[in-house]
Amino acid sequence: MTRRDCEVLVLGAGPAGIAAACCAGESGRQVILTDENPACGGQIWRAQRGAMHTRADVQHAADLWLTRLGRCGASVLSGATAFDADAALHFVRFETDRGVEEIHYSALILATGARERLLPFPGWTRSGVYAAGGLQALVKGGFRIDGQRILVAGTGPLLLAAAGMLGAHGGEVLMILEQAGWRSLTRFGLHLAGFPDKLLQAATLMVQAGVVPYRPGWWVCEAGGNGPLEWVAITDGKRTVRVDCDMLALGYGLVPNSELARLMGCRTTGSSAAPGAHFVDVDARQKTSLDGVFACGEITGIGGAELSLAEGSVAGYAACGHWHEVDRVAPLRNCLARQVHAMDSAFALRDELRAAVTPDTLVCRCEDVPAAELAGFGSWREAKLGSRCGMGPCQGRTCGPAVEFVWGWSAESVRPPITPVRLGSMSDQP
Ligand SMILES: Cc1cc2nc3c(=O)[nH]c(=O)nc-3n(C[C@H](O)[C@H](O)[C@H](O)COP(=O)(O)OP(=O)(O)OC[C@H]3O[C@@H](n4cnc5c(N)ncnc54)[C@H](O)[C@@H]3O)c2cc1C
Repeated sequence: MTRRDCEVLVLGAGPAGIAAACCAGESGRQVILTDENPACGGQIWRAQRGAMHTRADVQHAADLWLTRLGRCGASVLSGATAFDADAALHFVRFETDRGVEEIHYSALILATGARERLLPFPGWTRSGVYAAGGLQALVKGGFRIDGQRILVAGTGPLLLAAAGMLGAHGGEVLMILEQAGWRSLTRFGLHLAGFPDKLLQAATLMVQAGVVPYRPGWWVCEAGGNGPLEWVAITDGKRTVRVDCDMLALGYGLVPNSELARLMGCRTTGSSAAPGAHFVDVDARQKTSLDGVFACGEITGIGGAELSLAEGSVAGYAACGHWHEVDRVAPLRNCLARQVHAMDSAFALRDELRAAVTPDTLVCRCEDVPAAELAGFGSWREAKLGSRCGMGPCQGRTCGPAVEFVWGWSAESVRPPITPVRLGSMSDQP
């Protein structure tokens, strides 16, 4: 095991972590920025530089911040997966291809972002069914979708971004199903009227998605075919219709990657609008409930890349004790943060989505556990012990939030490793 020391350790190199590293680095601190991915940029800017069909505003922001990162003096450690941490001893442990690295810090900034939420329904594990962001990532990596008939479904503004991107890469996007109804969307639209930039962004996304039919109040209830996906059954709760397609891109909002924060003992709060999401609590300076530990970006609330950047800037300066800089950047953060609540309530998951789960529906795809096997259990712990639900390679990262939404059971504790690692990494102790 290798040991390193730094003044500020930033975990996660998405917009939030990059902004935090820039602000701390420019303040003269010795900073290490880490990410499990081979390149910086997080979910939105990954593989962005020189990529085709990138929105101009996204490209511009990526160029600006990645250039600033290159000049701020922070060391970047890519390909390093954080799997264990100790808040009392001030270290985080990473698995890298060179072995385990233990990084000791004076201040820690958690910016581990969010992942997509998938909900179970008959056929959701069939070949041809993708997470919308996952499909986007594959396409960015060179996966060809020319001429494929794609249905995009789920909830939230990311569906529009996904549809626009998939269409621009040659996919034939048939329709976008938004589970939220017209009433919620109208309320959200009225709220956006107070934020002209966001309204413009929403309009741009709508234009980029093209002339694709947009159906609020509709959702997917089955994905079928002889082997790979051939059709999808969609419903508005009254009618059910079959649509022939080759691919289904799904996204039921985002769930924060707050496992490391929870393992360290940071206080988190659940969301009634989005069961299964445990957001890290922070104060006005992005400080968590633990001394010397800050959090920023989508682990503290889902609000988009601009909010992540603003929170990251506050966290970076706060970790250095530069309060005048914190006061300078905090107003933008406060203004952008007002959208989080509006988005949460507009895109809250509807109860009917639970009804799509039949007894045969696979809930845990790692361990092949159907819904019927969960009957009779009263908690996530009981279900894990009795059925192995959530005990496979993803350790409940996918089925956990789904189980919390459908059955209302949440994980009581988080234990290391927070993500699968080699056995050797677990036994490699200082
Ligand atoms: C799948 C997906 C697709 C998206 N697509 C779009 C889009 O097309 N358009 C758009 O406007 N917004 C998109 N978003 C939203 C956008 O990505 C976010 O608003 C923004 O990136 C949040 O920034 P962040 O820094 O908080 O988190 P992220 O960008 O998620 O960055 C977090 C980083 O932490 C790293 N990390 C997490 N856990 C660990 C660990 N244990 N060890 C090491 N590193 C770790 C991750 O690898 C990641 O790079 C998408 C989000 C997701 C999840």
